[in-house]
Amino acid sequence: MKVPANNLLRHYQEHQQEYETKALEILRSGSYILGNEVETFERDFANYIGTNYCVGLGNCLDALWLSFRVLGIGAGDEVIVQANTYIASVMGITINDATPVFVEPDQYHSIDADKIEAKITAKTKAILVVHLYGQSCEMDKIVAIAKKHQLYLVEDCAQSHGATYQGQVTGSFGDIGCFSFYPSKNLGAFGDGGAVTTNSAELDKAFRMYRFYGSEKRYYNQVVGTNSRLDELQAGLLNVKLNYLDQLNADRNRVCQQYLKKIDNPVIQLPKVRAESTPVWHQFVITTPDRDELKDYLEAQGIGSIIHYPIPPHLSEAYAYLNLKKGSLAITEKLADEVLSLPLFYGMTEAEIDFVVAAINAFVPKVMER
Ligand SMILES: *Cc1c(COP(=O)(O)O)cnc(C)c1O
Repeated sequence: MKVPANNLLRHYQEHQQEYETKALEILRSGSYILGNEVETFERDFANYIGTNYCVGLGNCLDALWLSFRVLGIGAGDEVIVQANTYIASVMGITINDATPVFVEPDQYHSIDADKIEAKITAKTKAILVVHLYGQSCEMDKIVAIAKKHQLYLVEDCAQSHGATYQGQVTGSFGDIGCFSFYPSKNLGAFGDGGAVTTNSAELDKAFRMYRFYGSEKRYYNQVVGTNSRLDELQAGLLNVKLNYLDQLNADRNRVCQQYLKKIDNPVIQLPKVRAESTPVWHQFVITTPDRDELKDYLEAQGIGSIIHYPIPPHLSEAYAYLNLKKGSLAITEKLADEVLSLPLFYGMTEAEIDFVVAAINAFVPKVMER
């Protein structure tokens, strides 16, 4: 048996007719940019997240950098962000020439809410939380900190479509929620896509302007914007998929509950779930000091796995200019050496799950063999 890290075809094949009918309908409509499909998606997704507005964009990196742009955050300003994230979160800050200030994660791979206030300075303008791996950060504390210090709060929800904290959906806590519809995300398109959610009419208007060369009215440009639009084809296919999002998330949960119940190997640490949080399991991330050995061992048995992420942003070549040395964020750096995401996708069979579980349970690192 072979089990890949991901397989997007299981869901697609189950609803192939519906997706292909929708795609053909759009191809034949003659309308490909900013039409009915995008409008419908923006309305329904805002409704799903629980915000007044949603604006479709080209991808989540654009959602992130445009967020700081419309909030007026730039050179000389600091944005607090967790250190263990995908590098796009950090680029969203630095594209605006603002400075990322890194905070270590807690035991749930979320920004450690208790370490945020120590990092706030006179230059701090915003907090960017990342609901990494599909689990919400500790939002009650973080919302209170943002309020107390009058900071903007932006949420990177690229991995958390539908995840809740105390019953509230991520992307509705802060000033802006940033979403990715990259194919492998919980709500994935068939190409690139992104969006922001907000309750502010003013921010909604700003995003609409920025995504369209800075114009509200075509050829009347008020700011230097960009070209970043969710296209009709992606929006239409997302309109189909949004109806299945809860089912897709529930199925990921089915797989993860099996992993949690059946994986029993003292050298493997299982992911922890906060009591107030309902994760959507973008990834099932285990940790082990013998991570590279485990990855090779799984590979040899036909089991795919992925490291999210091998190099923390502060140690990447791109951010050498920040001068943050190895050892400066010890928890994050240790995680980068120990995390491994197991196979997880819609429609994984019991046989596939059991195959992965059996392999993991039989793993004995070389240091323990005699
Ligand atoms: C995928 C991802 C992004 C970037 O999304 P794109 O749509 O590919 O630009 C940003 N942040 C996180 C946490 C992600 O996982």
